Amino acid sequence: MTSPRLEIDLDKIQYNASALVSRLGHRGISVTGVTKACMGEPRFARALLSAGVKTLGDSRIENIETLRLSGIATPAVLMRSPMLSQVERVVRHATMSFNSELDVISALSTAARKANRRHGVLLMVELGDLRDGIMPAELVETVRQTLRFPNIDLNGISTNLACRSGVSPDSRNMGVLSRLADVIETECGSAMRMVSGGNSSNLQWALSGASIGRINNIRLGEAILLGLDPLQRQPIPGLYTDAIALVAEVIESKKKPSQPWGTIAQTTFGSSATFQDIGTITQSIVAIGHQDVDPQGLTPPPDIDILAASSDHLMLNTSKHEVKIGSEISFQPNYSTLLRAMTSPFVAKAYTETKQQTIPCPDFRDQHQPKGEAPRWH
Ligand SMILES: *Cc1c(COP(=O)(O)O)cnc(C)c1O
Repeated sequence: MTSPRLEIDLDKIQYNASALVSRLGHRGISVTGVTKACMGEPRFARALLSAGVKTLGDSRIENIETLRLSGIATPAVLMRSPMLSQVERVVRHATMSFNSELDVISALSTAARKANRRHGVLLMVELGDLRDGIMPAELVETVRQTLRFPNIDLNGISTNLACRSGVSPDSRNMGVLSRLADVIETECGSAMRMVSGGNSSNLQWALSGASIGRINNIRLGEAILLGLDPLQRQPIPGLYTDAIALVAEVIESKKKPSQPWGTIAQTTFGSSATFQDIGTITQSIVAIGHQDVDPQGLTPPPDIDILAASSDHLMLNTSKHEVKIGSEISFQPNYSTLLRAMTSPFVAKAYTETKQQTIPCPDFRDQHQPKGEAPRWH
């Protein structure tokens, strides 16, 4: 098998997704399955759909196009404000999008009219994390303006926390979102069908037994893929935390001093390295580096320590194990490493599907559908 590679166990992912769909379903909350960490990989999306996910979400239109090319016609939401330069592609392939700028909504309406379609909009609300979103005081006015665009359906509101600033979802900020949904319905007469409370970091709040108010959707990526709650990166009880592994191959293994010698200046990545003198060790190198992963985000097997990384080499202390040249070492990636590995052309992707599944997957028939094969990676 080629290495380095990501090994993605779709059965464990499907299990994680169905557990979360069911736990949140009891609370009246639907799950949007987020495909961006897998770049819209159709096999991953199908695992989510088999688990009962009814909407897919991604922040890149390219990934939604990958889903469409593979025949997946499930409603898909673009979770980042469309670029003005991409509105035609957005109305063609995304069912709805998150929006915070009237200029963009206007361009979406024009593009939708030209394509003889309607496009759904969820207005993004700023609730303190200071990423994207309309300030709450301006929301009602933005709703009024949005309702004027002929080819736009206002589907609801959404927010995103614990991303830029680590602001945790709680009863206070979720209560604000619920009340805003009520205010819009009273003042603008537009039903807020979807009130999307956030991402994987909303799970603790959503499953805590607190009143969920109007929140009826959350969007899950990391919790499904890694089984972790992003607030403290703790395992979510009952989920697999080992659905994904990063495998790399040993290219050197030698007894070496643990300290460098010579005059020490900066390293490739600018910092000055620090060394602990622990005598002679067995240093092994696997063929993976900054270009493929975030080395900080790799958990090695027990008894192996990560010493350092260059662009293309990861240095390990393997004194407690005999390591053969050509053998493989398996690491657990965190979200940051997973993203970088997924987008690195040097890292192969090995999806394992042990079950044969049949799922509803109607053809995506679209006269504008781009020609050719869906992009594939192995
Ligand atoms: C990526 C993303 C998500 C999913 O986040 P996870 O922490 O992986 O669950 C949800 N919402 C938005 C807007 C996103 O960009």
